[in-house]
Amino acid sequence: LWHPKGGLIRYLMEEHAKKMHLEGGYEFVFTPHIGRSVLWETSGHLDFYKESMYAPIEIDNQEYYLKPMNCPFHVQIYKSRVRSYRDLPIRMAEWGTVYRYERSGTLHGLTRVRGFTQDDAHLFCAPDQMPAEIDMVLNFSIDLLKDFGFENFQLYLSTRPEKRVGEEAKWDAAEDALLEALKRSGHPYDINEGDGAFYGPKIDIYVTDALERPWQLSTIQFDFNLPERFDLTFIGPDGQPHRPYMIHRALMGSMERFFGVLIEHYGGAFPVWLTPVQVKLIPITDDQNDYAYDIARKLKEAGLRVEVDDSDSRMNAKIRNAQLEKIPYMLVLGAKEMDAGQVNVRLRNGKRLGAMSLEDFIALAKEAIEKKVAI
Ligand SMILES: [Zn+2]
Repeated sequence: LWHPKGGLIRYLMEEHAKKMHLEGGYEFVFTPHIGRSVLWETSGHLDFYKESMYAPIEIDNQEYYLKPMNCPFHVQIYKSRVRSYRDLPIRMAEWGTVYRYERSGTLHGLTRVRGFTQDDAHLFCAPDQMPAEIDMVLNFSIDLLKDFGFENFQLYLSTRPEKRVGEEAKWDAAEDALLEALKRSGHPYDINEGDGAFYGPKIDIYVTDALERPWQLSTIQFDFNLPERFDLTFIGPDGQPHRPYMIHRALMGSMERFFGVLIEHYGGAFPVWLTPVQVKLIPITDDQNDYAYDIARKLKEAGLRVEVDDSDSRMNAKIRNAQLEKIPYMLVLGAKEMDAGQVNVRLRNGKRLGAMSLEDFIALAKEAIEKKVAI
């Protein structure tokens, strides 16, 4: 359950990430929460993933399953028409809610739950496009995570396991492309030999939070299995059908888990752009209440999220409460500020910026929002 303040942060997280996806050449799709058993038979989920799926629902003598993954639906969209090499690469994104059965002992707060929303996407590309596509998605992922305040990345390449499907030449090309992209990224990386899935190699991106704890967030995973099972093709320049590469990728992972990691990273003190209440107005006495509401209205018009503390508490108690709520800006309003038409600015870390005009404060707050900085 997402309550209003968490819901607002989630909205802001998604809004920013979705905008980046559109700019990065992704197309958005929407797919249902349940799918007929035949879809999960074809995909192989009922063979190798059934213990993580919920019991089927029978509707009109047909069995439906809650989706544990979005991939088979995206494959259906790919297959809905003939694809030419000119259509590729296709980058198909969905904020897809998936349902996985986890034994109750393994559930852990927001970081491991039974229904969660992935920032999921599938890339379909021609073999000659594949290395550039891998470079692009790796850089895209790191840029996205940087916008949320992560600075330290550790990358892992998982290579072919003993039991696997797919042509050796494809494994060679995919592992090469992943390794070259890792080298070019400039971030530290390690190789987990033999640790890939049976259907393809992958890169995992770990971030370290403010307390140096590692969290796995992004996965970029090749799939040599689904394109075979669903017989995916594109028509090449030679007029013949060819098999595309398919890559699964979730960069934030799930919204629930990512939100949990952000809370840990920032200790609840979110950067200004993600904070539910950005400004707390603190009138020193009742005489400044009207002035505070007038300032609040102007700040809201400027697009800032504002609350007025017009309680009977003393000024110091109001400031302490706002600090406990981790509100970035406190505007203290006394008789002096009211007469001068100014605001007295304090930051949640205790720093005092002093009296300034409302216009100057708005400019300062907007710059912090624009630059996505933590203050
Ligand atoms: Zn997938």
